[in-house]
Amino acid sequence: MPREPGFSTLAIHAGAQPDLTTGARATPIYQTTSYVFENSEHAASLFGLKAFGNIYTRIMNPTQAVLEERLAALEQGTAAVAVASGHAAQLLVFHALMRPGDNFVAARRLYGGSINQFSHSFRNFGWEVRWGNTDEPESFDALIDERTRAIFIESLANPGGNFVDIEAVSNVAQRHGIPLIVDNTLATPYLVRPIEHGADIVIHSLTKFIGGHGNSMGGVVVDGGTFDWSKSGNYPMLSEARPEYGGMVLHETFGNFALAIAVRVLGLRDLGPSISPFNAFMILTGLETLPLRMQRHCDNAMKVAHWLAAHPKVAWVSYPGLPSDANHSLYRRHSPKGAGAVFTFGLKDGYEAGIRLVEGLALFSHLANIGDTRSLVIHPASATHRQLTDEQKRAAGAGSEVIRISVGIEDVADIIADLEQALNKA
Ligand SMILES: *Cc1c(COP(=O)(O)O)cnc(C)c1O
Repeated sequence: MPREPGFSTLAIHAGAQPDLTTGARATPIYQTTSYVFENSEHAASLFGLKAFGNIYTRIMNPTQAVLEERLAALEQGTAAVAVASGHAAQLLVFHALMRPGDNFVAARRLYGGSINQFSHSFRNFGWEVRWGNTDEPESFDALIDERTRAIFIESLANPGGNFVDIEAVSNVAQRHGIPLIVDNTLATPYLVRPIEHGADIVIHSLTKFIGGHGNSMGGVVVDGGTFDWSKSGNYPMLSEARPEYGGMVLHETFGNFALAIAVRVLGLRDLGPSISPFNAFMILTGLETLPLRMQRHCDNAMKVAHWLAAHPKVAWVSYPGLPSDANHSLYRRHSPKGAGAVFTFGLKDGYEAGIRLVEGLALFSHLANIGDTRSLVIHPASATHRQLTDEQKRAAGAGSEVIRISVGIEDVADIIADLEQALNKA
């Protein structure tokens, strides 16, 4: 038996091989919209899902396929579908699971963009979101009824950087016979592999740590292959005959990767948010160094969090790597390699000091993103959350004194020196 390759080996090699016609070692950018059929019979079998192959880049592309196979391997799923962005991944998952009038339960602590997508755009489709508190997974029970189709959480939650007890939430989902969807963007599979903890579906914004260089948008849906879509009849897209595919039932034909097939041949086909081959190539290149970068991100963040916690102008630091943090034991159990690189801290002086700090930082970039090689900072109260009332800001973890940072992979002494000079001015 050859040995099972390790995570760093998979991050470089999974899904890829030298190009069969040219010998190119790096995965080529297949910058094409369409693919020539061998003959009409071949065309017919591709369109009927009788054979697997390239038809049109809205649905699949060879550069994208390498990215998909690599992410499925790193997350230990059965298959994956790469799409245009993290939000597109969320849209396509729910498109496969929900009908008008259905609902899902989502963690209250989520990326702000996801809160918007779920509260407003999804409501227009007749999909209702119900907000739950992941600190008390048992409280999800009361939110679930016969029209609830899924639970959605982040493994490492924005903006405070808190680990969530995935097993505990998975137990609730299993008890109700619904799938658990985990957004693993902030942790990445280097720190946490949600499927090992009971998740059925994993989604990512590849825009963040996985691409890792702040230059390309992307998203992915990873099928865990764990959920029985035929059991309840509540997921007709997977368990009922598809007229356009000759009456095929996706779950019968494709078994433990039926969800990935539905996302591709119904979601991507009809809604259309495909990833460009160029972005798939950029993200594949980033992915090769994910283990190295993620370890450095976490090591730097740990040092920065300890330094901030001892600073006289800092009131509090929310970072699971600090022994005093309420989330510390979950981090030790769930993510022993590191505690992530995105977290918040509070200044003793409020709003004005927050503005002076973000404006005084020089190495840090003041912007609305995370998971770049560069260190990033935002003062949510004066930026992403400025339209909210003071009370809403506080509830969202964006009080006037709150600063969120995404610690980069520069020399940590330079990161700390920049914070020090800016705090002195604030
Ligand atoms: C950025 C982000 C998203 C959305 O991804 P996009 O690629 O920006 O569409 C979703 N979830 C989390 C946790 C994110 O950080």
